[in-house]
Amino acid sequence: MTRVFSGIKPTGHLTLGNYLGAMRRWADVDQHRSEALFCIVDLHALTVDHDPARVRRLSRQGATLLLASGLDPDLCTVFVQSHVDEHARLSYVLECVATDGEMRRMIQYREKSARERERGGSVRLSLLTYPALMAADILAYGADEVPVGDDQRQHVELTRDLAARFNQRYGHTFVVPRATRPQVAARVMNLQDPTSKMGKSDDSGPGIVYLLDEPNVVRKKIMRAMTDSGSDVVYDRETRPGVTNLLEILAACEGSDPEKLSGAYESYGALKKDTAEAVVELLRPVQERHKALCADPGYVDGVLRAGAERARGMARPQVDAAYRAIGLLPAG
Ligand code: ATP
Ligand code: MG
Repeated sequence: MTRVFSGIKPTGHLTLGNYLGAMRRWADVDQHRSEALFCIVDLHALTVDHDPARVRRLSRQGATLLLASGLDPDLCTVFVQSHVDEHARLSYVLECVATDGEMRRMIQYREKSARERERGGSVRLSLLTYPALMAADILAYGADEVPVGDDQRQHVELTRDLAARFNQRYGHTFVVPRATRPQVAARVMNLQDPTSKMGKSDDSGPGIVYLLDEPNVVRKKIMRAMTDSGSDVVYDRETRPGVTNLLEILAACEGSDPEKLSGAYESYGALKKDTAEAVVELLRPVQERHKALCADPGYVDGVLRAGAERARGMARPQVDAAYRAIGLLPAG
């Protein structure tokens, strides 16, 4: 059976981008057709300036939202990265296979390190080595597929390179995984700056729809979305990034084609109104389930405990095999 792994960082409140680019497919498709693991990758949240209490709170909230989005612990494994030591164990070994040059080339490293410097902060070494830990997250489970949004594709490419290089040097040990992406809304853009990705750790609140935003907040954000000069509704990322983003969001909600959809609208106002309503309806069941789950935190804890145990059992033999292959003496 195909094995699938993917994760989400507790760096902020989850967004419509996270949902359309990743989570929705995990729940609707991946957990039903594969052996799937989904993870709150909390170690990755420590790569930038962070508040310990907030990371803890967001980890619980993220796990609750994964379940609210429809992940079923009877069908897949939901867990927290730091509960399974194998991720950090394998990450070190992969750092010994990667080069600093390939880490420095990562777009996310370049963007996030520039942002940290602009804020007057220093850049944590872990931000540079992050892709080795992400590769470990995936390779520890022998995942064949990694369902992610567009922005993570470069990291999955690097994971493939590291797996292939390790296999070539030390003998076949890892499955070489591949990224999968949604057909529509693989990169949801910020509503106020449609040339930048909607990211949960960005500061610009009005441009980001959070999964737990009240319906009226969602409507307001979408109705105030930045549109482009011109007034006709045209699907073109280059010249009409604002309208194109709305068409992508609406098409993803409806399961339709964004380019075809553009023909159905004569004004930005009508497109915004339909998009706002579609997003409100999309989020409604997630928010309802989230509320019910919050009333039962013991249930979420139990899911995470069982998930970590199952994940540990899967990762252990794989990481032990990598340790042996690279020349480390087994512990007797
Ligand atoms: P951060 O700003 O901290 O990097 P993020 O919003 O990018 O947060 P991640 O935890 O890095 O979220 O990514 C979780 C998943 O959501 C990944 O599969 C990623 O590709 C996807 N994703 C994130 N943002 C978007 C987006 N704007 N559109 C589509 N998919 C997205
Ligand atoms: Mg990200």
